[in-house]
Amino acid sequence: MLEPLRRIVQAVNQAASLQHALDTLVGDVKRAVGADVCSVYLTDPDHREHVLQATDGLRADAVGRVRLPLNRGLIGWVTERADVVNLDDAYTHPRYLRVHDTGEERFHGFLGAPIMRNRKVLGVLVLRQREARAFSDDVVSFVVTLAAQLAAAIALARSTGELDRMRFQDGGSEHFLSGLPASPGIAFGTARVVYPAADLDAVPDRVPADADAEIAAFRAAIDAVTTDIAGLASRLGHVLRDEDRALFDAWRLMLESEALTAEVHERIRAGNWAQGALRATICEHAAVFDLMDDAYLRERGCDVRDLGRQVLMRLQQRDAATDATPPRTILVGDEISAMQIADVPLESLAGIVSSRGSSSSHMAILARGMGVPAAMGVAECPVGRLEGRELIVDGYRGRVYVSPSPSVRAEYERLAADDRELSAELEELRGLRCETTDGHALPLYLNTGLVSEQRPHGIEESAGVGLYRTELPFMVRDRFPSESRQVEHYRRVLETFAPRPVTIRTLDIGGDKPLPYFPIEESNPFLGWRGIRITRDHPEIFITQVRAMLRAAIGLENLKLLLPMITTVDEVDDALLLIERACDELCDEGYDAVMPPVGVMIEVPAAVYQADALARRVSFLSVGTNDLTQYLLAVDRNNTHVASLYDDLHPAVLRALMTVVAGARVHDREVGVCGEMAGDPLAAVLLLGIGVDSLSMSASGLLRVKGVIRSMSRARARELLRTALQCETGNAVRQVMISALEDVGLGGLVRPGR
Ligand code: PEP
Ligand code: MG
Repeated sequence: MLEPLRRIVQAVNQAASLQHALDTLVGDVKRAVGADVCSVYLTDPDHREHVLQATDGLRADAVGRVRLPLNRGLIGWVTERADVVNLDDAYTHPRYLRVHDTGEERFHGFLGAPIMRNRKVLGVLVLRQREARAFSDDVVSFVVTLAAQLAAAIALARSTGELDRMRFQDGGSEHFLSGLPASPGIAFGTARVVYPAADLDAVPDRVPADADAEIAAFRAAIDAVTTDIAGLASRLGHVLRDEDRALFDAWRLMLESEALTAEVHERIRAGNWAQGALRATICEHAAVFDLMDDAYLRERGCDVRDLGRQVLMRLQQRDAATDATPPRTILVGDEISAMQIADVPLESLAGIVSSRGSSSSHMAILARGMGVPAAMGVAECPVGRLEGRELIVDGYRGRVYVSPSPSVRAEYERLAADDRELSAELEELRGLRCETTDGHALPLYLNTGLVSEQRPHGIEESAGVGLYRTELPFMVRDRFPSESRQVEHYRRVLETFAPRPVTIRTLDIGGDKPLPYFPIEESNPFLGWRGIRITRDHPEIFITQVRAMLRAAIGLENLKLLLPMITTVDEVDDALLLIERACDELCDEGYDAVMPPVGVMIEVPAAVYQADALARRVSFLSVGTNDLTQYLLAVDRNNTHVASLYDDLHPAVLRALMTVVAGARVHDREVGVCGEMAGDPLAAVLLLGIGVDSLSMSASGLLRVKGVIRSMSRARARELLRTALQCETGNAVRQVMISALEDVGLGGLVRPGR
């Protein structure tokens, strides 16, 4: 068998693709050993399944469709043992599992060999025989040798992303990429991949639609950068030092160099788009300098990359301007910025998929605020290969289907129809008071601000704005907005809701809300310089913002001001002094400014235990459960790996909230909750039981929360809280609350993610 073995190994190694290798192998092996069937099952660890990936002898249409649970049947047994299983009659074995749709019922003999690499089973190579007989030792060692060869080919295909590609074959896939549910709903649309601007390393390879157009775009980018550099050099000429002038000359020479242009052209002609061809060429040139011993020459590698970034920026600007936005765009990226979302017209934005982050990241909150389904933390998302692909995003379960099959599409169309029905039922609550069955009112407010909408959804339904996040106007610009610009912005919101109150929070940047023009490099940003800590160190930013808010409120008097990330009473005392100073200054300048009610956010555990001291200083408290949960449980809200530990129903979070309410009561202050927990119908009942005075949430939560509050008495909510407090885990609390809501016929509101 040596010769067939050598031939098959060679064919596997030379095959153009893994699928091709598998298809060739199953035929060759079947013939070489005289079996009736040879098949390969590949392990899909995400979904804990084996997928029939190639066969000679079973029904061809079963390939890609037959999926077996990882630990079931004989294939599962081979995997569990991580060893060969050789049976003369598979039917009599207790682990035999009949697989429909393959035509396998005619075969008795079974030989399964695990395909292993680094002690992990990547798949199973299977032989079947019509008559009942065990396979010979020769055949066993032949199959084991081939399985080892296949392991290397599969590992390679996995690392190059080829395995993923095989799953997304045209004709429709039932395979999905798993992530975390971030914003509920189902989106159908076309992927539009976004990358961090001017980041050469993030540029993928992509086959160009029109190579000539790419070459022309590259030429135009080179010309534009040449002009930029010449302009800069002549403007700065008199102040430049000699070495800086030399850099401008070096850039000019590189831009004029035929070698650079010719190489990029060649790569475009070979089948890459201009951005990919540029990245490959620049990286190759820079790498030559990186290897040099001389420090001065090594520095030149950075100059090459700098130049590459400038050309890339021009290409990206051209692509952003010329690429038409698909009518149902699903934004896909490793990390998606507020600016990239703002670039897509709201009516065209169908969904968001991000390979990083979690449901409590600010991007997820933004998506929920806009009512756009989103999945985050989709770690295996092959971002670079999704451009233009048809996607379904299941925001309830955090799944993404690429080129979905007709049956998957039909199933999701049914689910989307159910959603529409539920929304129509909820519509009947519009305009009704949010009060319990025994007449206790619980006002619902709106969280807004992260979304740049003109008229936020939920205006009519809400009692006002409970949290206006001011970060967005700062995040989508290239410098701090001026006082007058901020006045315009805040005035619009205050007017829209007047006479209802609008709680505007001072700038809460840092953590996962960076400003492009105010970079903060920290190894632990959520424990670092963020919120009030930044504005306390930069009173000029704080005072400008406060002045703008006070000016915007003149004549409306519906402003409430909220301070984020408070950890100590000193921070509050300082902030109050600055606010009073801003108010006095405005009055001196002739404005009719008045001191607004000021509140603090309770988001840091220290603030929980000083709630009474804080409450004594201010008019109200507002609990930011998003941060409070991350700090209490020591779980980074933005980290996909620990997302399963993030749980705002954790009994520790409930007890912290009770402490806050008790602290506020000492000074007769009101407590609201404005974290995402407030918009979750399950949690809202517990918050009612705890005794919070109001809830503030994204528009999508308003009617759902109203639905549960209107079907509960306050006494029942307190009773449920008592039961929940006896639980020791967040999941146990969740179960208590799910059954309580199912008992009153509200099960539809508490299906996963709803
Ligand atoms: C919170 O932390 O709960 C909160 C509302 O603030 P943000 O989500 O903006 O950090
Ligand atoms: Mg917060």
